[in-house]
Amino acid sequence: MLTDSYRHKGMRKSLVRIVQEKGIKDKRVLEAMEQVPRHFFFEKAFLEQAYQDKAFPIGEGQTISQPYTVAYQTELLEVQPTDKILEIGTGSGYQCSILLKLTPKVYTIEYNEVLYHKANRQFQLMGLTPHTFLGDGSEGLPQHAPFNKIIVTAGAPIIPKTLLRQLTIGGKLVIPVGDTATQKMLRITRLGEDEFAKEEFDNFKFVPLLGKQGWK
Ligand code: SAH
Repeated sequence: MLTDSYRHKGMRKSLVRIVQEKGIKDKRVLEAMEQVPRHFFFEKAFLEQAYQDKAFPIGEGQTISQPYTVAYQTELLEVQPTDKILEIGTGSGYQCSILLKLTPKVYTIEYNEVLYHKANRQFQLMGLTPHTFLGDGSEGLPQHAPFNKIIVTAGAPIIPKTLLRQLTIGGKLVIPVGDTATQKMLRITRLGEDEFAKEEFDNFKFVPLLGKQGWK
């Protein structure tokens, strides 16, 4: 059973304050984070870890991203309520649940079958209805493109060109790119058919993006 309590709500408020102090300003992102019970994504034995600003193992060698990182990427996406979003790397489903507070149209793809099923069960328990896919998301989801926003939640060696082609004009891709040790957060905006603008932000450490355009 998933239960939320005043104590958890209080812990969430403190977490939001921490994330805010680290520089996250977007009110809608902070509100979403205050609303989504992060402890629902944790095994019973680890519930106490849910409201620390830390990444945490979710099995299969993967992690639920640090709350600050989730807030950071979400802020960079500048989500509008009409946006259709693609998330690459469903993992626990936490980032996806945050996105669903900002727009109903979220597509999410996961490479690992165990995590895919686990996240689906989680969404069902929480009454959430993202469009979920199992497979290699490093080349996006061409059959459902274009997307207003694309977020990659694993570290990529390059910016996959095929993702850029799946953005609407004015659309944005937020992706950490680098080596396996550290990645720079990049935001690419599609200005025209073949015109893109690239912005660089802080360094992070993500689990590697696998698949055709990822680490082999
Ligand atoms: N957004 C997640 C973070 C998960 S960590 C959350 O909120 O919990 C990154 C995830 O990306 C892992 O689950 C990993 O299995 C997945 N992944 C790695 N390469 C992928 C690929 N090519 N396509 C889809 N998912 C991928």
